[in-house]
Amino acid sequence: MGKARVGLSPGTFDPITFGHMDILRRASKLVDRLVVGVAVNPGKDPLFEFDERVEMVKHVTEPMSSELGIEIDVRPFDGLLIHFAEEVGASIIIRGLRAVADFEFEYQMVGMNRTLNPDIEIAFLMADAKYQAIASRLVKEIAALGGDISAFVSPEVVKRVTERLAARSGT
Ligand code: ADP
Repeated sequence: MGKARVGLSPGTFDPITFGHMDILRRASKLVDRLVVGVAVNPGKDPLFEFDERVEMVKHVTEPMSSELGIEIDVRPFDGLLIHFAEEVGASIIIRGLRAVADFEFEYQMVGMNRTLNPDIEIAFLMADAKYQAIASRLVKEIAALGGDISAFVSPEVVKRVTERLAARSGT
């Protein structure tokens, strides 16, 4: 029997959306074990601390893991992505690709990461058309303006975003 194939799906997940979930579900089908890496310090001034982002990702990936019968391990990481990939023994990094806007950035990242470690493959998946336009940033903007975000994130995430924004405006 060959070695178990470990995949790594990294992101900020601030918060996790149906777009991310669609990518994670697809990624799960390609590997024996999926590690979801939650960037601790993404330089993006996140709405949620990393531990809360991890909790939300766990909350939505637990049912996915039992449904698909695959181990999904949600872990925070700091520092270089490629180092974290090495640490968890990933042979493949799986990212989602939305529109051309994602492409330029990812293209550069692939080039650099490939130089850092040529043995780790980087693959891109596209979400189902109905989830492709979803972005965490817009979910937060819509919620902040009082819009309904239930078409973009899970009920647990709706609750947390609503609570967080209420706490923010109260201070
Ligand atoms: P990052 O800060 O690394 O961009 P994100 O949390 O924004 O982290 O995204 C994590 C991954 O999920 C990225 O590969 C991103 O392209 C992908 N992703 C996010 N939303 C979608 C979506 N709606 N469709 C496809 N991929 C997505």
